[in-house]
Amino acid sequence: MAGFKGGCLCGAVKYEVEGEPVRVAQCHCDDCRRATGSAFATNIFVEEKNLKILYGSTSSYQHIADSGNTMTKEFCPICGSQLFGYGSGSPGIKSVKIGSIDKIGNIKPQVEVFTSKSLPYTPPLKFTEKFEKGRPR
Ligand SMILES: [Zn+2]
Ligand SMILES: [Zn+2]
Repeated sequence: MAGFKGGCLCGAVKYEVEGEPVRVAQCHCDDCRRATGSAFATNIFVEEKNLKILYGSTSSYQHIADSGNTMTKEFCPICGSQLFGYGSGSPGIKSVKIGSIDKIGNIKPQVEVFTSKSLPYTPPLKFTEKFEKGRPR
């Protein structure tokens, strides 16, 4: 896979990612659940320099994670779709929410994190490496 495009629900924000993702992680933590309003978040981590906003702009919200890192969520100010995130613990890396991609291609999670927090009905994926908490660095 080499790059992908995506955008928000209303179409005001469009982005492009060049090159290969660093990692794709499915996260079951409480923060990801609340922020996405879904059962889990699937984050495609990319190098920040490879992520280009084609048009539109995002609003952002910051909070402190249990790790103590400052986490920033970026979302469309019109429709509220969450598109990107980044944390003070991972400079130069941004996550892209998998649901915002135009064509999913062969992108799929390689790891699952915070599996200790996963909802009872969320089946573990067969092909992922699993971590009860965050992924050790
Ligand atoms: Zn939008
Ligand atoms: Zn999370």
